[in-house]
Amino acid sequence: MGIKTVYEDCDVLVVGGGMGGTGAAYEARYWGRDLKIVVAEKANIDRSGAVAQGLYAINCYMGTQWDENNPEDHVRYARNDLMGLVREDLAFDMARHVDSAVHKFEEWGLPFMHDPDTGHYQREGKWQIMIHGESYKPIVANAARNSADKIYNRIMVTHLLMDENKPNRVGGAVGFNVRTGDFHVFRAKAVIVSAGGASHIFKPRSVGEGMGRTWYAPWSSGSAYALSIQAGAKMTQMENRIVLARFKDGYGPVGAYFLHLKTYTQNGYGEEYESKWYDDTKAMVGEYIDHHPTPTCLRNHAMVSEVKAGRGPIHMVTKEAFQDPHLEQVGWENFLGMTVSQAVVWASQDIDPKYINPELTTSEPYVMGSHATCSGAWCSGPEDLSPDEYQWGYNRMMTVDGLFGAGDAIGGTAHAFSSGSFTEGRIAAKAAVKYIKDLRNEAPSISDKQTEDLKKTVYQPLENYQVGRNEIVGGTVSPSYLLPIQGLQRLEKVMDEYVGGISVNYMTNDKLLERGIDLLNIMEEDFEHLGAEDLHQLQRAWELKHRLLTSQSVAQHTLFREETRWPGYYYRGDHMKLDDDNWHCLTLSRRDPESGEWAMEKAPVYHLVD
Ligand SMILES: Cc1cc2nc3c(=O)[nH]c(=O)nc-3n(C[C@H](O)[C@H](O)[C@H](O)COP(=O)(O)OP(=O)(O)OC[C@H]3O[C@@H](n4cnc5c(N)ncnc54)[C@H](O)[C@@H]3O)c2cc1C
Repeated sequence: MGIKTVYEDCDVLVVGGGMGGTGAAYEARYWGRDLKIVVAEKANIDRSGAVAQGLYAINCYMGTQWDENNPEDHVRYARNDLMGLVREDLAFDMARHVDSAVHKFEEWGLPFMHDPDTGHYQREGKWQIMIHGESYKPIVANAARNSADKIYNRIMVTHLLMDENKPNRVGGAVGFNVRTGDFHVFRAKAVIVSAGGASHIFKPRSVGEGMGRTWYAPWSSGSAYALSIQAGAKMTQMENRIVLARFKDGYGPVGAYFLHLKTYTQNGYGEEYESKWYDDTKAMVGEYIDHHPTPTCLRNHAMVSEVKAGRGPIHMVTKEAFQDPHLEQVGWENFLGMTVSQAVVWASQDIDPKYINPELTTSEPYVMGSHATCSGAWCSGPEDLSPDEYQWGYNRMMTVDGLFGAGDAIGGTAHAFSSGSFTEGRIAAKAAVKYIKDLRNEAPSISDKQTEDLKKTVYQPLENYQVGRNEIVGGTVSPSYLLPIQGLQRLEKVMDEYVGGISVNYMTNDKLLERGIDLLNIMEEDFEHLGAEDLHQLQRAWELKHRLLTSQSVAQHTLFREETRWPGYYYRGDHMKLDDDNWHCLTLSRRDPESGEWAMEKAPVYHLVD
């Protein structure tokens, strides 16, 4: 094959330079002054990942210096929102370190809003602090750039490498440059995967030319999950997909509206509706409906149920708050710093929230481990806190030796958000450096055969296209290959209809899931025939393959958990109630890299905080 191969030997390889990855690069340098630290990023770290466009609030800050919250409070909050099921050791570990990360952001030039009376950071809610955050990502990227030996932008990482001397030990990663087409081989002693969550695995509400407009970043292709699954890492809580209630069509955030502007919701007839669903919800989930704050999924449940009952659309009542010029300004700025497109949608639809209450809707499901849900890899916890079942090695190390994770990649750690993901990157990097030093720098053994075989696999879609295009007489449909967009639409349709997407009001059951899994397996065979006409399409092909593996994991987990734990995120029609007797536990899966078989098990939930 006439494609150039570029080799890079390093100590720590960071895959994905988003919030977790930049934190990892920064911290790896602190502990590993003499180590070689490399970042491989699909886009450009200056504007990559979920924070690319900026944020208006840092959603996780304890404020311990001002006695605002303690880490224990945050564990209670995350546990409550996830209906009891989080990894409390990981949550506590993140929470005890997150404030110091936030202080670094301010030191590096991120502008914070301050309360004029107290001088503290301006709170939006109990956990959120407000920032002028358009440049949040370039600021943390700068810290990573100053720390890493080398940042490779535009590298789509497709596979992890495995050590051939030591079973179950990672040895680096491979990928290709989406601009030059070069094949990149990174041989590394430790790998930190921080490649974000997954959008576009379920059919989105947006269609046609608008399909790129989703709540979660459309470029988040589930790589963090797929890379880890391919390597044989155990995953946890992959059924815990997230559905967001957001402003319609632009997916503009509602946090500042609810918390700061004190706006509230109504049904299409101007009525309060949440309380109407109290009895119904109580019958499903018991006392969880009485918890404060009401878990996010249960608020979704009321909204979904009200719309299903024929009393939509749901409106956000903005007309009152927007009469105050200061709040009006905050309302608009909130979008300009984070989701400009929502302001554009309103302008294009003649919606001035001062006079018209805008619509809210629930999104298609996404998979992530750092926002309000906690899907991701099963990892070892901190030595001083974690019970035996949660501790087998180094902090944030997966069940594969030398493979660490941060942010969306790691499961069980909801409500970390941007600051918590950066903090997890720091925690993972510190542990990865220790791992390397304890191994006395022993490098993994990677044969040319391993990398050459992967090279052939990576570029196969280009080959499929080259050969197959001769059979096309017109249009884009070929008898011998599938285009990535065609595969994506097929994947989204199956996930939507069988695994609980928008068109079925998030409903599924064992029969649907079993059939869905069969269809996903057939798709896996068919995706061997993806055709890519250029490097951009090659990237799309690999993103699709990563999305498929993520979807298979979601479907397996959803089938395994025989209850409806999070109504409003999804429903198991054959088990419509929450079942604490049998399912107050975490779910684990492992896909055998050789056979492709999935094995499922339960893991205990330890409540380490009262
Ligand atoms: C719409 C939205 C709004 C949010 N609002 C807030 C908020 O207001 N406040 C807050 O604190 N948090 C917010 N968050 C949460 C925050 O953005 C995430 O928690 C955080 O970005 C997760 O960090 P991460 O490193 O896991 O992923 P990301 O920051 O998304 O980084 C993943 C990185 O991996 C790269 N990558 C992906 N695949 C590959 C591959 N195959 N090879 C190489 N690189 C790859 C990506 O390009 C990206 O740079 C929001 C998230 C979303 C989606």
